[in-house]
Amino acid sequence: MKILKSQTKLCLSCMEEHEVQEVLILEENIFNNKTVHYNAIYEYCSKADEYTQSEEMIRKNDVAFKDAYKKQMNLLTSDEIIEIRNIYGVSQKDFAIILGWGLATITRYENYQVQDTAHDDILRKIKEDPKWFLQLLERSRDNLSLKAYQKYSKGVNALIKSKKNEFLKEVIEMQYIDINGNEELTGGTILNLDKVVEIVNVFSLKVQNLFKVKLMKYLWYSDFLNYKRTGRSITGLAYKALPMGAVPEAHEMIIALEGIHFNEVLINGNTAYKFEYVPGLDTKYLSEEELEVISDVIRQFGDMNTKDMIDVMHKEAAYKETEANEYILYKYANQLSIN
Ligand SMILES: [Zn+2]
Repeated sequence: MKILKSQTKLCLSCMEEHEVQEVLILEENIFNNKTVHYNAIYEYCSKADEYTQSEEMIRKNDVAFKDAYKKQMNLLTSDEIIEIRNIYGVSQKDFAIILGWGLATITRYENYQVQDTAHDDILRKIKEDPKWFLQLLERSRDNLSLKAYQKYSKGVNALIKSKKNEFLKEVIEMQYIDINGNEELTGGTILNLDKVVEIVNVFSLKVQNLFKVKLMKYLWYSDFLNYKRTGRSITGLAYKALPMGAVPEAHEMIIALEGIHFNEVLINGNTAYKFEYVPGLDTKYLSEEELEVISDVIRQFGDMNTKDMIDVMHKEAAYKETEANEYILYKYANQLSIN
């Protein structure tokens, strides 16, 4: 028995006012032929040496009993069901409508009622798969108020977007898994995509007409200049020598990360990516020293057009010494044309 609290009040056992204790007691009970153990709350009267339950305690104890059973059967507990509903910010009633269940079903599952395994599976799938929730939401659109529908739709779309970004990050990180932290290939730094997003955004803010080829060069110069100064790259990106200069591994996925924004523009019949600053993104990952390196790179090349920038890159020892399509080794940072 564990005492939760002690207070002077009207005792439910002897109906007199005195100090009454609220206690937790380990109970044993049977549900669906299973013996279940759980902690139940009681009020204890020391005068009558009696335990009683208020209406509220009866309700809570029933939930605790069923939750213990749910846990034992590997079913979602009431709190876990509430948590899933909260992910999507839906009311109990609307959640039941979206799932096509009886109106009070969710309310009951979040309390004393034990869900069957079919419903349990559906709830688990909903938790993992916002796209499926969106489908169900669309299907039940007419049965929800417009305001509720719009709110849920906005929420789930934001969730899908952030899931997509998480997935994208994972795929990029997978591509770096064998070279992560490698001194020669990544400059001894573990890939830091938060810094990558931040650097791109700093360049997008400070450089006019920032197109992809130029951005890739800026990234390369920033990492290599930082390596020249400190012996470490900023981002941990690995660069390959492509015909137009250095390009980071997984560059196509990198520019699709959340926090990086570009517009597709037509130049002489070709599609070009013009990068734009994303407002509200603070620099919280890059250090003062790293920001200084970035400023120095902008100071050196800020006014150059893409063609001049490619020419400069082609004169770098790092580029000349590297075979086409091979990784550019960080050791060449020492011969970089800028300091
Ligand atoms: Zn009493």
